[in-house]
Parts: sequence; C-alpha cells; structure tokens
Amino acid sequence: MSQDCIFCKIARKEAPATVVYEDEDVLAFRDINPIAPVHVLVIPKKHVEKLSDFDPEAERDLWAKLLRAVQKVAELTGVKDSGYRVVINEGPHGQQTVFHLHLHVIGGRQLRWTM
Ligand code: 5GP
Repeated sequence: MSQDCIFCKIARKEAPATVVYEDEDVLAFRDINPIAPVHVLVIPKKHVEKLSDFDPEAERDLWAKLLRAVQKVAELTGVKDSGYRVVINEGPHGQQTVFHLHLHVIGGRQLRWTM
C-alpha cells in the first residue's frame, strides 16, 4: 500500500468510491469521470504502479482474480452480452494518469476505435 496513492486510499476505504465488486485481493469501482454509461476500474488492492511492474507468472492467482473481476463487473453492470472494452493505460504515451495498476471496463454504448 502507498500512503499517497488515491486508489490505495479507495482500497483501504479511506476515500469514497462506488464499489461494484470486491474480494480479498481485488476491488472494482465506478470511474469518477466516466466516458461511457458503464466505466468501472478494476484494481489489485496491493499497490502495483503499472503493468510493466506486474509479473503475471509470479502473480498468477492475482492476475486470474483481476480477469475474473472484469467478467463479474460485466455481468453485474449488464454489459456481458452487449459487449465491452477492457483497457490498461501504461506510461506517458498510454496516458496513464493514476499510477496504481487498473483495468478500465467500458461499455453500455457502441464504442468506436479512436487513437
Ligand atoms: P488512467 O488514465 O490512469 O488509465 O485512468 C485513471 C482513471 O481514474 C481515470 O479514468 C479517472 O477518471 C479515474 N479517477 C481518477 N481519480 C479517481 C478517483 O478519485 N476516484 C475514482 N472513482 N476514479 C478516479
């Protein structure tokens, strides 16, 4: 956990968020500035700064939990059948703005592919 990280604070329940799904290691909550009717962030509760700091082999169970949480969010928010997008932004060119690994789950409208 990082003292100053906003997503760590949300994970510790020291900052407010609308939680969609939670287990021991993973939290999913609504994005504060949604770009679609469904925009949920899935995070590991432990602090990982970015995708390139994450070792999927060493963290096999956590990676599986993160992807399972994405699937559960899709079910719970009603976008499982209509479809949705999962995004991880990494570093400056990826426009990462919060440096705690998070998977965006975006849906509820027709998405386009723009860069
Ligand atoms: P990034 O650009 O790092 O991939 O995405 C960070 C996301 O976190 C943005 O979509 C932004 O709206 C969201 N966000 C930033 N601060 C907060 C916050 O305090 N609470 C919530 N729920 N979302 C946040």
